[in-house]
Amino acid sequence: MDPSDALLGQKIASLEQRIGYLERIVKVSQILNSTLSLEPLLRIIIQSATELTHTEACSIMLLDKRTGELHFAHMVGQHSEGLRDVTVPLDNSIAGWIVRKGKPLLIRDVKADERWHSRVDRTIDFDTRSILGVPLKVKDEVIGALELLNKLGDQGFSQDDIQIANTLAAQAAIAIENARLLDELQRAYDVLAELDQLKSDFVNVASHELRTPLSVILGYASFLRDEFSGEAGEQLGIVLQSAMRLRSIIDDMVNLRHVDTGEASLERDIFSMHKLISDVVGEFTQLAQAKQQILRLELPDDPLKIDADRQKVYLVLANLVSNAIKFTSAGGRVLVSALRKDEEIWIEVMDTGIGIAPRDCDRIFDRFFQVEPTLTRRHEGMGLGLSIAKSMVELHGGRIWVESVLGKGSRFITVLPVSPFRAVPVAKTASTS
Ligand code: ADP
Repeated sequence: MDPSDALLGQKIASLEQRIGYLERIVKVSQILNSTLSLEPLLRIIIQSATELTHTEACSIMLLDKRTGELHFAHMVGQHSEGLRDVTVPLDNSIAGWIVRKGKPLLIRDVKADERWHSRVDRTIDFDTRSILGVPLKVKDEVIGALELLNKLGDQGFSQDDIQIANTLAAQAAIAIENARLLDELQRAYDVLAELDQLKSDFVNVASHELRTPLSVILGYASFLRDEFSGEAGEQLGIVLQSAMRLRSIIDDMVNLRHVDTGEASLERDIFSMHKLISDVVGEFTQLAQAKQQILRLELPDDPLKIDADRQKVYLVLANLVSNAIKFTSAGGRVLVSALRKDEEIWIEVMDTGIGIAPRDCDRIFDRFFQVEPTLTRRHEGMGLGLSIAKSMVELHGGRIWVESVLGKGSRFITVLPVSPFRAVPVAKTASTS
């Protein structure tokens, strides 16, 4: 054979080997990207490592930060099962050296190396002759080592073997880190679920326990206020107002819990939205007067019949009107209007108050979101009203959103289908926040 042909043959063989190696690495990467289960992935990694480097066995050892020891996480080779409970110290061991230094280590004759312990070999009846070990790194932290044992044939470990071991160790490290993060996430999720249950139970018990004495306070305070006039009457009025405020906070908490647990259901009835809006506005007339605001109502002659849950719709509108008055200064205007558009009733609560910045227009419907920072807040409230209102409106198959100009005022638009059978599917979800 022509020597140049032989050389070419060698080159082709070497290239084919490299292609085979690259194919294997790509396959491991694909699996790494498609699964989060650690076991099968590490198995493939160490299997690939032994096959590609022509070695007898391979193991992955991980550092236990608490004990400072290395334990066998995965291995291939004869009798490897027996290594499950074996640990290796960080000091004075080959794997320990790799982890401490964060560098690869190649030992052609382990028996001549003082870091070598025969304990592991004895445990599984194995004869280690040569080792190629590389660190497993997550960012700059070494979390363990991958070791290849006993190179087959006479040539010993090559530069290529070190490269293969390094590449596969990097993939194993990513897989281990992913699994750790997933585990952490799952644990955080479990804790959250537990806390959520606790919160729900607490709200349930607290609201129940608070409601009873509060009803007594409300009853007596309103009775006494009617009995007394002058300063005492005024003071009793304040007690009554505060107690009512407390009741609305408790109601918010209960409503929120109902929304969370999916218990919030609708008790439908056919009623006049015209009447309901007038009732809500009537309830706030005194408050608006006290703030020297003009509270106006603009309704068509149509009774605006609707099939909905009266109490929940009342809650939504009372919340919007209460906010409009709260966030509008003295001398300002609040206008409540409604009209029927096809199969929907559109209700608008407009004010000439402080307005809302565009970036906050969606966020105000989030639970506990308040534009003003908590500590310097001038307005009372818990940031729950709008999130509850949104849930209630959506429960009806409706939508709610705000259009506002900072410093000029806001317009809250609530759209409700006149009946559950006539709900119009919404395409414009973005604006319905
Ligand atoms: P709360 O009023 O109890 O704080 P809400 O959920 O009802 O809670 O409202 C959330 C936030 O949205 C308010 O704290 C306020 O910052 C803003 N907001 C609501 N209504 C108006 C309004 N009419 N004008 C200006 N800002 C408003």
